Amino acid sequence: MSYDVRRNYRGKPGYSVVSPDGSVRGTHSTRQEAVAQQRALYAAEENSKKDISKAEHDLYEQLPAAEKKFHDSLVSIAEEYGPLDKEETGIWIGYESAEMNTDAAIGVMCGNCSMHYENDDGSIGCMILSYKIEEGGKCRLAAIPPGYVKSPTPPDDSPDMITRSFWGGRFR
Ligand code: SF4
Repeated sequence: MSYDVRRNYRGKPGYSVVSPDGSVRGTHSTRQEAVAQQRALYAAEENSKKDISKAEHDLYEQLPAAEKKFHDSLVSIAEEYGPLDKEETGIWIGYESAEMNTDAAIGVMCGNCSMHYENDDGSIGCMILSYKIEEGGKCRLAAIPPGYVKSPTPPDDSPDMITRSFWGGRFR
């Protein structure tokens, strides 16, 4: 995000630091102070980006090559079109809250997906959605490295087709 320093912005005396949406982040009596705040905002954003890349890096690096491309494609679509949960994208996300996600017990959850990141307040976000997500939630686009999902024990009378489809699928 870019911030401008504007003098007497909207009639307010002094130097204001203004966000792209026009909101004022602070007003100062000197340009120097305003520039100092502008720099602090950029530094805070840079740190938050580092946190995101760290959370992404750990799980992302463990994905097989094809799934890395799957992750990269979704992130690049979200960068181009905005969060994928927006109705106009036409993409069905199928997000389930932690309470609804029965697959969390075997590890299919946002906390194991390479597209989650951690916020400073301990909550988590998703790189491709605007939803507030939960560690135990999931959506049908999860990218989870091998070893994070435990195979569930099939019932003795599981027909082979169902068993194969469950084991071979991506839990979507
Ligand atoms: S499972 Fe879905 S909602 Fe959760 S972090 Fe991954 S992509 Fe985002």
